[in-house]
Amino acid sequence: MLKNDQLDQWDRDNFFHPSTHLAQHARGDSPSRVIKTANGVHIEDRDGNQLLDAFAGLYCVNVGYGRQDIAEAIAAQAKELAYYHSYVGHGTEASITLSKMILDRAPSNMSKVYFGLGGSDANETNVKLIWYYNNILGRHEKKKIISRWRGYHGSGLVTGSLTGLELFHKKFDLPLAQVVHTEAPYYFRRDDLSQTEEQFVAHCVAELEALIEREGADTIAAFIGEPVLGTGGIVPPPAGYWAAIQAVLKKHDILLVADEVVTGFGRLGTMFGSDHYGIEADIITIAKGLTSAYAPLSGSIVSDKVWKVLEQGTDENGPIGHGWTYSAHPIGAAAGVANLKLIDELDLVTNAGEVGAYLNKTMTEALGSHPNVGDIRGEGMLCAVEFVKDKDSRTFFDAADKIGPQISATLLAQDKVIARAMPQGDILGFAPPFCLTKAEADTVVAATAAAVKTVLG
Ligand code: PLP
Repeated sequence: MLKNDQLDQWDRDNFFHPSTHLAQHARGDSPSRVIKTANGVHIEDRDGNQLLDAFAGLYCVNVGYGRQDIAEAIAAQAKELAYYHSYVGHGTEASITLSKMILDRAPSNMSKVYFGLGGSDANETNVKLIWYYNNILGRHEKKKIISRWRGYHGSGLVTGSLTGLELFHKKFDLPLAQVVHTEAPYYFRRDDLSQTEEQFVAHCVAELEALIEREGADTIAAFIGEPVLGTGGIVPPPAGYWAAIQAVLKKHDILLVADEVVTGFGRLGTMFGSDHYGIEADIITIAKGLTSAYAPLSGSIVSDKVWKVLEQGTDENGPIGHGWTYSAHPIGAAAGVANLKLIDELDLVTNAGEVGAYLNKTMTEALGSHPNVGDIRGEGMLCAVEFVKDKDSRTFFDAADKIGPQISATLLAQDKVIARAMPQGDILGFAPPFCLTKAEADTVVAATAAAVKTVLG
């Protein structure tokens, strides 16, 4: 590891990195990497290493790196108007156009978009809107939010609470009392191995019903979920899950937030995960793929049903007391417009579906029979390989063995392919840019098989 380098030292001395072992990094005990440039599915570090980024940054650079159309749109916007706010009815051509483009693509019951900067603040907005909604309707006790264990919805106070991963709660005094968690729709990790998928869905429904019964339906405002669990392990839902959950929510008058930060704008091979699974949400969270991360931008898409109550609220109480300085930032909006145009022009949603299916198929062919591969799963341009100590008894490795991190480190060292060791379990995650070719998918699969062989034999 380089130690005699100014940038490396400045990094360790000055930079507080997110999701990082702070002490190890500051001491120089863990590797750092300075990324210099990128093109297509490849990034290049300052030492000239070309790495195939099979996780698209943090599943966000959906159109791939180095897209000049988006860079030029950003530059043009910065030159013409770098900033104006969107309070009290102000807008820009970019922000107004983007809101129309989003609504043109969103499910038909959606009405308006509120813009934020990232997925965490968008979900923060959602919770505030839901509380406001129930206050306007006079339901002052109906405020709790149900989230799933292993869900990921951000790392703020409310959103870190919604996130159902221990690392995001431990030592932070989270989750807050207004958030309650229910079973993750994670069939491979079911407690009762004899359960069929259908029985497991019935079990998830029973758990949800029991939670609502325990808390009281008149205290539960909303349920939030990702169409496909992302950071919690890249887990597509078992068949029938969303229909069964929505029936329960309807019965108890509980709003549904579809967190489409990862799935929105094409990752599943459909424009939205809600279309993919027949989810009729009241609010949809968007971020990452909205600009393919060329600029920070997120959104809360609000349905007609919610919007009408928000209008009633401002008629009764005056302007809504919610807004960020950078809501609908023109540069983010210009990036969003150019990004959505590019997705259409290059038909990238179709490619995500087709090449994603190919990636999942070839990964299964290459690794499905390995004795330590317990599950290979995915949907669209998402794929995960989960490792087990013993396949027949589905015994997991000890977390201290760090099998997932070892395999991802080996993959990078041997073949310069980036996959993500997911944070809870020995799970290798893939979420490449939508422009991945079949030849690049072959490279990813061959490199993964080689890394698994190196670590596990
Ligand atoms: N929601 C989901 C489903 C996510 O995957 C993420 C981030 O990975 C977030 C919300 C939080 O987004 P951000 O990191 O932009 O705050």
